[in-house]
Amino acid sequence: MNYTYCPNCGEKLTTKLCGDEGMVPYCEKCDKVYFNFSQPCVICLIADENNNIALIKQSYVSEKYICVAGFLKQAETAELAAAREVNEETGLDVLSVKYLNSYFYEKNDLLMLGFVCSVKRSDFLLSEEVESAKWFSVDEAYEKLRTGSIGKVLLNDWIGFIR
Ligand SMILES: [Zn+2]
Repeated sequence: MNYTYCPNCGEKLTTKLCGDEGMVPYCEKCDKVYFNFSQPCVICLIADENNNIALIKQSYVSEKYICVAGFLKQAETAELAAAREVNEETGLDVLSVKYLNSYFYEKNDLLMLGFVCSVKRSDFLLSEEVESAKWFSVDEAYEKLRTGSIGKVLLNDWIGFIR
C-alpha cells in the first residue's frame, strides 16, 4: 500500500528524508512519516493430530480447494487472527498455532503470514463464506491445492519441516 494522503488529517503527503529508508511519505501538518507497506494477513494450514489437512472451498476465491486465510483486526496479534479465522470459517477448535513463514502475494500486495493451526478433529461448522470443507492426507492436500498458490507453498514448507 502506497500512501498519497495523510490517513490522519487527509492532507496530501510530501516526502521526507528518513535516514537509511530514503525519501518517505510525510505529512507536514501532522509532522508524521508513513512507510508504504504490504497489508498483512494470515494463511492457515489446518492439521489434526495425525497430520491430516483440512481445506475449504470458497467459490468467490477459487474453484479449487484452498487454505483458510483472512485479515488481521486492529490490535489483534497474528496468532490470534490465525486461530480466529480457522474457528470462524470451519468451526474447529484450535489447540495451538505455530508460525511457519511469511509470503509476499504480489497480485494483491499482501504480506501473508503462514501458520500451522493444530486442531481437534471434529465435525465442521462452516461459516456462510465457506461452501465446503474436507479432510485430506498430506499427499491428497498437495494434489488439491493449486500449483503456484501460496497455500501450496505453505504446505510444502510444512512438509519439509515435519519429514
Ligand atoms: Zn496529516
